[in-house]
Amino acid sequence: MSFSIHAYQAIIIGAGPAGLFAAIQLAETSRAKNASRPTEASQAKNVSNPAEASRVNNPIRHSGSVPTDGASAEPVDQSSILVLERKEKPARKLLISGSGQCNLTHAGPINNFLDHYGGGAKAQSAARFLKQALYNFDNQALLAWFGARGIEFETEENGKIFPIDRRASSILKVLQDEARRLAIQIETNSRVHSIRSSADGFIIHVEGQEVSYRAPMVLIATGGLSYPKTGSSGDGYTLAASLGHTIVPPRPALSPVIIRDFALKSLAGLSFRDAELALLREGKRIATKRGDLLITHEGLSGPLILDSSRHIQPSDILEINFLPDTLDVFRNRLDAELQAKPRRLVRALLSELGLTKSMAELFCELANIPLKTTAASLPRANREALCRLTCAQPFLVNHLGSLEIAMVTAGGIDLAQVKSGTMESRIVPGLFFAGEVLDIDGDTGGYNLQAAFSTGTLAASGMSQLIKS
Ligand SMILES: Cc1cc2nc3c(=O)[nH]c(=O)nc-3n(C[C@H](O)[C@H](O)[C@H](O)COP(=O)(O)OP(=O)(O)OC[C@H]3O[C@@H](n4cnc5c(N)ncnc54)[C@H](O)[C@@H]3O)c2cc1C
Repeated sequence: MSFSIHAYQAIIIGAGPAGLFAAIQLAETSRAKNASRPTEASQAKNVSNPAEASRVNNPIRHSGSVPTDGASAEPVDQSSILVLERKEKPARKLLISGSGQCNLTHAGPINNFLDHYGGGAKAQSAARFLKQALYNFDNQALLAWFGARGIEFETEENGKIFPIDRRASSILKVLQDEARRLAIQIETNSRVHSIRSSADGFIIHVEGQEVSYRAPMVLIATGGLSYPKTGSSGDGYTLAASLGHTIVPPRPALSPVIIRDFALKSLAGLSFRDAELALLREGKRIATKRGDLLITHEGLSGPLILDSSRHIQPSDILEINFLPDTLDVFRNRLDAELQAKPRRLVRALLSELGLTKSMAELFCELANIPLKTTAASLPRANREALCRLTCAQPFLVNHLGSLEIAMVTAGGIDLAQVKSGTMESRIVPGLFFAGEVLDIDGDTGGYNLQAAFSTGTLAASGMSQLIKS
């Protein structure tokens, strides 16, 4: 059986937003550089034999099958960039982002972004690591890039930015059109299962293929481990580890929380604007946060919980205030209503104070208050129980949602082993990383896609510097 090796200037593993965008940015830079060259033959300088040199300059562009020599009559690919994608189509996760509407990024100054990422060994490690990527290619640059290619955006009150047609597929189409225009070769159904570093660069093997790929530079942009059906099943960790990288154990982030003996099941689907979460561990209040909350059949979700989930552990207590009022303010308001309207039913008064009907009835039941109880007949202890159920209700965390349903993976490639100015490995020269495969997890609101595009851009510029040198 004869094995052949196809050589490229750069290989990118993973056609998610980080990988596709890095390929586009790198091809754009290479194209500008190549435009000033008299011939493209010099591109083959990394390739020792003439047959391979010809292949470098005439890569074959088709999906799902092993390239054959006979197919080399296609246009010359000046950038010689190969993207290998395991799924049958690129960027499955991008397509489901923001429920298919794609919350591309967030509004506001880029320095505000830095507080919205977890990851790294210490507090703020991820922010320090990401700073250069985000400042080099910020939210305005991202919007301008897509804007120049015909996408219009709208910003929600909460700062989330979406394409005006609310279609993630419009964002992907722009990326695919650009990749096509720049003659980037994307091989789908090509799952990389091994990577080896040699004096000539990296040798990459794809599952079920006899052909191997070689390049002096490789970018791993395989995403994390969450929503594995979209293609991100942690392969990037295995590939990087095989080259000596340390992997911070992956775990779910942006995950709903499953509550032990959850008493609010019947309220599933109810959401609250501006609720408050206090996170308690071993009796100590370790964090508080406000935001939008959603009740599920098994526990709690919504941006408030998802964004806090990277800090939440089993056996923690989540103390929830469902209202914008503090406990004291609510108690005073309730007292005033009880005194002013002694004949009103307590549950009706609760609805007037901002609780929904179903919630008011359930909270009365949980506080052992019969539904016919009037304001005048409410014992003080039950009144206090009602106040606590509304403004300081404790929930015992059973576990976080699995990686199957977490939107993002926390953990990944250890940031200490990656140069934050270029996204190049500190361990293996020529190896780069971008996107969620890194030990970075952003909040909801567009922070993860921004990180994917920003790190992809910086990796492309790092790779392009390597080509120059
Ligand atoms: C339901 C959901 C909704 C989301 N909504 C938003 C949102 O609105 N806004 C936001 O900012 N973020 C959102 N995110 C997060 C965001 O989509 C990701 O952070 C982002 O897609 C990461 O981009 P990436 O390119 O690093 O990885 P991915 O998008 O995961 O892409 C990695 C690619 O690599 C491929 N791959 C993996 N292994 C191999 C291999 N061995 N060989 C070849 N290819 C391989 C995969 O098939 C995949 O195509 C959401 C996530 C989910 C799950």
